[in-house]
Amino acid sequence: RAKTSGRGIMAFFDAEIDRETRERRRMESELRNAVSRKQIQLVFQPFLAADEAKILGYEALIRWNHPEYGLLLPNAFLPIAEETGIIIQLGEWVLREACKTASQWDERLSLAVNFSPVQFRLVNLAPTVGAILAETGFDPHRLEVEINEAALLKDRSTTLATLHQLKEMGVRVVMDDFGTGHSSLSNLRCFPFDMIKIDRSFISAMSSDEEARSLVRAIVGLGRSLGFPVTAEGIETLEQYKMIMDEGCSQVQGLYFGQPNPPEALMDAATPFGKSQRSLQYAGSVDW
Ligand code: C2E
Ligand code: MG
Ligand code: MG
Ligand code: MG
Repeated sequence: RAKTSGRGIMAFFDAEIDRETRERRRMESELRNAVSRKQIQLVFQPFLAADEAKILGYEALIRWNHPEYGLLLPNAFLPIAEETGIIIQLGEWVLREACKTASQWDERLSLAVNFSPVQFRLVNLAPTVGAILAETGFDPHRLEVEINEAALLKDRSTTLATLHQLKEMGVRVVMDDFGTGHSSLSNLRCFPFDMIKIDRSFISAMSSDEEARSLVRAIVGLGRSLGFPVTAEGIETLEQYKMIMDEGCSQVQGLYFGQPNPPEALMDAATPFGKSQRSLQYAGSVDW
């Protein structure tokens, strides 16, 4: 009896695995067609100068408007895109689309675009970026490329060469999600980053966790001594904003300052920095 029910459970698992495999294959083929079906969209979240609460630019974040599942966040489909290599095409589309959108903005505003570690394994990534910048007429000096530490694990020499090529073109390179994953101080020394973004898990932990706060302080100090600004991401409350100001972060990003929005909701052509300027409303009135 025990044996049969054991077999039953195995059969159940097999069926479950089949179902998941089928589901994944389906997602994969849908994802291949998602761009041409206009289901992929970008939303843009502001990042600001910490002291003035002035918008410096926007980060492009990908969304998949799936016909059945609704609006999907990157963690629901980027892993599939990366495993299948779809991310290569998708990443080019993201950059092109983001540059087109940002071309409409005030010229003082920067554009930050996330790149997958998989894209950094390509030897011709920098020329491809150059071609897209040329095609869209977007000024390389306004572009920030964000990568996380996973990109620095494999193919380090290819990644290093690409980062140098990007910098030669005038593009800034940003270490995203710093402090998660495989942080190594030597990464900061060996790779030519212009900026660090502290992962939001540190920011959310800061108010209750003295250790998280010490780490933020240490990262800011590290950035200062190596000569690059530090951004705090994921700021949701005034309390967190005040804390990271105390620690000396130079840039801020998070729901407190503005959520990711579709491009048409960002800019009011009449006002240079847009109308969704909640930050400016309190910028002068924050009581430190
Ligand atoms: P990321 O680059 O670290 O982006 C910040 C993430 O935090 C975004 O999640 C954003 O919506 C979210 N966020 C911003 N402010 C807050 C806040 O105050 N509280 C909380 N809880 N979350 C906040 P999202 O859009 O789900 O993106 C997740 C990750 O997916 C990104 O993390 C980035 O690594 C990746 N990603 C997004 N778009 C792209 C893309 O176009 N290409 C590639 N390769 N990766 C992308
Ligand atoms: Mg990012
Ligand atoms: Mg991040
Ligand atoms: Mg991230």
